Amino acid sequence: MLNVDLAKSPRVGLKLLRVGSCRHSERITMRGGTLAAATFPALVALILHPKEGPILWDTGYSPYFDQATRAFPERLYRWVTPVSLPHDQTLEVQLRQHGLSRRDIRLCLISHFHADHIAGLRDLPAARFVAMRGDYQQIATSGRWRGLLHGQLKELLPPDFDARLTFAESLATTALRGPWSRFSHGFDVLGDASILAVHLPGHSAGQMGVLVRDENDRQVFLCADSCWSARAFRELRFPALAARPLMHDWADYKNTIVNLHHLSLEDPHLVILPSHCESSIAAYENSMPRVEVETRTFKVPGAAT
Ligand SMILES: [Zn+2]
Repeated sequence: MLNVDLAKSPRVGLKLLRVGSCRHSERITMRGGTLAAATFPALVALILHPKEGPILWDTGYSPYFDQATRAFPERLYRWVTPVSLPHDQTLEVQLRQHGLSRRDIRLCLISHFHADHIAGLRDLPAARFVAMRGDYQQIATSGRWRGLLHGQLKELLPPDFDARLTFAESLATTALRGPWSRFSHGFDVLGDASILAVHLPGHSAGQMGVLVRDENDRQVFLCADSCWSARAFRELRFPALAARPLMHDWADYKNTIVNLHHLSLEDPHLVILPSHCESSIAAYENSMPRVEVETRTFKVPGAAT
């Protein structure tokens, strides 16, 4: 097992994209929330690595979601969570705003296989994928109904997905120390400690969070759906009981939130970003210095100029 000094991990560029959103009652996601429908963005992180080039963490929604939920029983998915994906929020358009095309993405890290996180995998023809074994096994072995009950749509996977997939568990393992020791160990995605994958049990059969250090030297933990809002880990406010069947393991889910709670107290400078928490995403963006010119001139290593 490796020993990585998290305080010295290399910096990467980090851009947050909202690739579509869905609407449902806030009360499902948080006890005591309002009954009215709220908008939940689908977060995608564009990680700009100085040597490996642009890397995606999740894909958000895509027109493939529309296609995959046209027939029954999959159509129930879009009824339960009505989805919005305006043209200017599509992955392709937002990548272009950073001077990139879909083909420039050579690596996509998959937090878990719920449809709102992977609907755009087919949009990435040149990407390799990294995901956790348990989650992939679930989507790969589920039939239509069982997959749907788990929020998974197998049709969203590219036909050659298996050949392009690496399990996070097969990567170099590193012990986590200090405030991170509750999560035991991480997986060094690129071998330079710039991207550390961390297992976040409970929400799905194998959810993967990602820890990076941004260009402003802040550690950012992309914690996917381990909680649906920052209030969950700050105030230990759990979802309504109605959300319980949506979780792979309720006890593990709550325990992961408790671990995030302690982590946030012991490392108050750490930025923890749940994928559907608009206020956390906006707060991070508002704290960033404006560097528009730099992002538009980012070059893909090996690409023709
Ligand atoms: Zn999810």
